[in-house]
Amino acid sequence: MSGSNQRFIKPSNGKRGHKSSDYEEDHLPLVSAEENLHALVIGDEDQPTPIQSMPMMASFNDSIRPILDAVDQLRNLMVMKEGIQLPTIVVVGDQSSGKSSVLESLAGISLPRGQGICTRVPLIMRLQHNTSLIPEIFLEFNGKTIQTDEANVADAINTATEEIAGGGKGISDAPLTLVVKKNGLPDLTMVDLPGITRVPVHGQPDNIYEQIAAIVMQYIQPEESIILNVLPASVDFTTCESIRMSRQVDKTGQRTLAVVTKADKAPEGLLEKVTADDVNIGLGYVCVRNRIGDESYENARMEEANLFATHPLLSRIDKSIVGIPVLAKKLMHIQATIMAKCWPEIVGKINEKLNGNVEELNRMPKAMSSVAEFLTAFMQVIGSAKDSLRKTLVRGEYDEYPDDRNMHCVARVAEMFNQYSADLLNCPEGDHTRNFLMDEIRILEEAKAIELPNFLPRLAFLSLLQRKVEGVSHLLFGFVEKVWAYFDNVVLSVFDAPH
Ligand code: GDP
Ligand code: MG
Repeated sequence: MSGSNQRFIKPSNGKRGHKSSDYEEDHLPLVSAEENLHALVIGDEDQPTPIQSMPMMASFNDSIRPILDAVDQLRNLMVMKEGIQLPTIVVVGDQSSGKSSVLESLAGISLPRGQGICTRVPLIMRLQHNTSLIPEIFLEFNGKTIQTDEANVADAINTATEEIAGGGKGISDAPLTLVVKKNGLPDLTMVDLPGITRVPVHGQPDNIYEQIAAIVMQYIQPEESIILNVLPASVDFTTCESIRMSRQVDKTGQRTLAVVTKADKAPEGLLEKVTADDVNIGLGYVCVRNRIGDESYENARMEEANLFATHPLLSRIDKSIVGIPVLAKKLMHIQATIMAKCWPEIVGKINEKLNGNVEELNRMPKAMSSVAEFLTAFMQVIGSAKDSLRKTLVRGEYDEYPDDRNMHCVARVAEMFNQYSADLLNCPEGDHTRNFLMDEIRILEEAKAIELPNFLPRLAFLSLLQRKVEGVSHLLFGFVEKVWAYFDNVVLSVFDAPH
């Protein structure tokens, strides 16, 4: 990896209050992103973090943060629209499977949740550890930033959702970003998507399934996406729509991780379900119990720990696959792995785009300081466009556009004339056989007068000819319009082309 990427790895001199990180010394040599991630990925598959030991994975955070920040900045710059895919953890699940609750548990805040459709736009959630004891929470959408706090975040999300997707039950694919900086949070960026529903409820468009499926597919299709499939313990996993969809894009399940929610509601047979793995989950399962009702975040974690420690059935499940802290750790590990895998390619693609754009920029006229310079540049552009047009339109040379058939003007104009000629012959007025003699006789009858024999009366001649001309005149107008539009197009293309 080239030196230019290394600046992302340098720590922002963050002396964390909790645990010293490897990178806290100011004069430490820079480490390349790959080496850094390699160390993270290799060195961190030990036992699950004890629930009480918040903040979660602090040193891990310090090392992954710069790269995650860089990727998040790229996401804000909309590089996905330029065809550059970013590694993303995407949360999918059927409606009310507990997606928002899982994110809520990871973020330690309240999100809008409940029955029916709540998440109506893709919600990009950026969690970040913060040394300050006061959490910092804000929303970013439609180019603005809205500060909020823990008590109001759910309402703020609802208001923002209404602004993006309207007041009804409709959905939108324009994302909303929620940034949560809070002490003890894992550094994770995830996308929560609208829940998959088969049946439109009152006020939803009939094609709601297709709309949601399209959004989900858009996010889970790229190879760089990790699919976090949220499955309620109470259902047969093979019947989940979200499983069906993730299998379409990830057959072997190598980038799918399952979170089984509501373990408290349906503990029977859960152990068997996750061990049997009927649905091919390559990255494994994590069983959790989310916050119920008005429980506080801390209480919810304690209840969860208790549940998996004491419940006769749930306690038999291996501790390395239960609980939100384990999930957080797994996700960070996975995140580091995909970053390591994708980063070199992302840098390469960005450089490629950059070079292309710089080249285009260099072809532009240089900065101008006086009217005279501007006029010279303008005349140059006009002059070279005129030369181009003369070549393509008059002389029929097309060496400037060897592969663009549309710009081979002389041939295209000849084609249009041929077509016009064929149209004239084929139009009803061009048909000689059609009642022409009968019409002529009728008109001659009507034009009868005392005249010299064998001379066609002028009146008859005019009326026959006029009818013919009227019959074909619309073809001429159409032809002229067509040729005009074509020339219009050609001239604009010539001006658009780099000179
Ligand atoms: P989403 O539609 O997938 O985002 O689902 P929500 O997160 O809104 O959850 C749907 C319902 O399930 C809510 O009423 C949650 O309180 C409830 N729920 C989610 N997770 C759990 C869990 O682990 N245990 C229990 N008992 N209820 C849960
Ligand atoms: Mg939701």
